[in-house]
Amino acid sequence: MDKIWGQACAELESSVGPNNYNHWIKPLRLAAIEEGAARFISPTRFISDWVNRHFAKEIMSVLNRTGEHVERLRFDVGSAAARPAAQAAAPADMPAQAPTARVAPRADLGAPLDPRYTFGNFVVGKPNELAHAAARRVAEGGPVGFNPLFLYGGVGLGKTHLMHAIAHDYQTRHPNAQVLYLSAEQFMYRFVQALRESTIMDFKGMFRNVNMLMVDDVQFIAGKDSTQEEFFHTFNALVDQGKQIVISADRAPAEIKGLEERIKSRLSCGLIVDLHPTTYELRLGILQSKTAVFRAQQPDLEIGAGVLEFLAHRITTNVRVLEGALQRLFAHASLLRREITLEVAQECLADILRTNDRKINIDDIQRKVAEHYNIRLADMMGPKRARNVARPRQIAMYLSKQLTSRSLPEIGRRFGGRDHTTIMHGVRKIEELIIDDSAMSEDIAVLKRMLEA
Ligand code: ADP
Ligand code: MG
Repeated sequence: MDKIWGQACAELESSVGPNNYNHWIKPLRLAAIEEGAARFISPTRFISDWVNRHFAKEIMSVLNRTGEHVERLRFDVGSAAARPAAQAAAPADMPAQAPTARVAPRADLGAPLDPRYTFGNFVVGKPNELAHAAARRVAEGGPVGFNPLFLYGGVGLGKTHLMHAIAHDYQTRHPNAQVLYLSAEQFMYRFVQALRESTIMDFKGMFRNVNMLMVDDVQFIAGKDSTQEEFFHTFNALVDQGKQIVISADRAPAEIKGLEERIKSRLSCGLIVDLHPTTYELRLGILQSKTAVFRAQQPDLEIGAGVLEFLAHRITTNVRVLEGALQRLFAHASLLRREITLEVAQECLADILRTNDRKINIDDIQRKVAEHYNIRLADMMGPKRARNVARPRQIAMYLSKQLTSRSLPEIGRRFGGRDHTTIMHGVRKIEELIIDDSAMSEDIAVLKRMLEA
């Protein structure tokens, strides 16, 4: 199968162009051709869907030209897909193996790279600009400035994305270099396996032959003594040879409990950068960029005004959740063939919105708005109708509707027992004003930012 696919790949590369080829087709592995169906293993569902939609015909005709009979494609998602060529090839200097030894081939040491995690797809903003710049620098190779590069930050802030991007970029610049990316958990697993199968020398040799070693989520090996020990030696050997190391963790080295002091101190010799929690601007940028990708696939999908802004305001935990929400919206829209309006979004994402809701409540909104306009908190609930009080009250109603998932009657109760139609009127009024009154819309943006900080 590998031979057939190799032949087909050469043709595909010229027919779909090297970019498409590297991005979409190269990650696939042809597992079998049975009864007219070519079965592929793809690293992600996203890739197989894309390939199926865009390149199925081309792939079938190329396979048929090699003398196979293929009338449909099937895809399984699995980790056994091909690695980048340089990683997949066994190096010439790999230690000879005893016939009985079951050493994992080199390709199995690392984890596959996600072709979507590139620098091109990474949206840069204030919270991640330093990490991004450091990652870019390391990807250039050359004299090693930051070794190790230690990236840390909360879940879903882009650590893995940046590491894969470094690997892709570095590999493109240095096609013959060996880049090894794996999670700390996989490192431990390989290590334990090598111990069990008495192939520890091979294990050491393989790690020490790489040009760049990337270990993701290193907090995992905290407290695992022998794994840490081995990691420490591998680490030292590579740094001493001037090889680049990139490590990520969910917190700073000093804060990882159960991590040996000597490892911590070795880690702090390099560059330690953190990814900060996202800001509204960064979230909106990410949503816009992902939307552009979706729409390239399905140009007829309509997204109503303000939907992305709404999501960026309301989903503040992590980018993965944000992405999941967007994906669900698109799935929803393409199934129901309906425009994604704000209402559709609120309905379809109710569960995600609720869990992201705990931070902002109506009390906070009323308090902040009252402070901002210098009125008494009691006036939020009170009956005064003078404009200088009524307008801020309407703004608070509007923000309560936008930033929490409370219903109109619930909001009404919190504003001194007002009727839900009064709340609706207030919300509409502010929506209208925002359009023409730039001072008001600026004011509201500031209030939102304060509330979300
Ligand atoms: P971490 O490893 O820090 O938990 P990931 O790198 O897995 O986070 O990121 C989670 C998801 O969010 C991924 O799909 C990633 O592509 C996306 N993501 C995170 N930050 C960004 C960004 N700045 N631009 C584009 N996508 C991002
Ligand atoms: Mg990660």
